[in-house]
Amino acid sequence: MEMKMKMEKVNCPICDRTGGKLLHLEGSFQMVRCPSCQFIFLNPRPTVESLHSFYQQYLPERESSIESWKKMMNPVFHRAASLLKHFREEGRLLDVGSGFGFFLAEMKDRGWEAVGVEISRKAMDYGRNILGLTIHPGPMEDAAFPDNHFDVVTGFYVIEHLPHPMAFLKECHRILKPGGLLLLRYPHTTPIKNLLHFFGVKNRLYDLPAHLSDFSPKMIQQCLEKIGFAKFYHLIGGYTLPRDTGKRAASILFGSLSEALFYLSRRKFLLPGVSKNVLAFKKENVMNG
Ligand SMILES: [Zn+2]
Repeated sequence: MEMKMKMEKVNCPICDRTGGKLLHLEGSFQMVRCPSCQFIFLNPRPTVESLHSFYQQYLPERESSIESWKKMMNPVFHRAASLLKHFREEGRLLDVGSGFGFFLAEMKDRGWEAVGVEISRKAMDYGRNILGLTIHPGPMEDAAFPDNHFDVVTGFYVIEHLPHPMAFLKECHRILKPGGLLLLRYPHTTPIKNLLHFFGVKNRLYDLPAHLSDFSPKMIQQCLEKIGFAKFYHLIGGYTLPRDTGKRAASILFGSLSEALFYLSRRKFLLPGVSKNVLAFKKENVMNG
């Protein structure tokens, strides 16, 4: 898929500054760090058009692969659903990048009015036809949701794929009701990358060119604050279970280790380099539109 992609050079997706210092190489792909805001992103990166066609092939297609995908993601979905229960018993939820729709299905079972947006047509069709869900074709802006509409917006492993993450966060803010909750799950790879680089271990952990950036909890909170979100919670939120034994072991090891440290440190220490959840709230007194 590498050779088919049309690449372009871009400014920093967060602060629009030109240039960037090379941080890591994966094959011919470069992750750079913005000299101004320190954001870590892929540059040059695939054009928006080539990304769109790339995502038509990104998710697995065979029934058995979809089943393993479900097994891999379910612990994360289950934890997120339990987490949301502390916020509300039910309500109106949007899952951005809903994939096959397994999280939507779980939330629907729990009594939520749950809808999705998905850019991969095959995944969207699966969610609609096999699981009977309401899923709009992505990108999210095309769905033109009303202002102040959702109690909860979720995005699992979405923001690192987006060419315009700030526009995405703004759109989430616009469609959330005042006091509504945004839950994002994202990988945080750079610290592990730095560690493996130090030991000379070759790897492709950034998953380039699918991932366009690598957010740290600090960076994601800064972005959310800028847009007007308040009350932030950073959590580990379970770990995925990849089918590949090596990856699975690493995921469980890093996942449980970081979780143990998180609780031992009374929720202060987040081991860098594993996936994280961030929860943020739209302020109560803000109305869009
Ligand atoms: Zn920047």
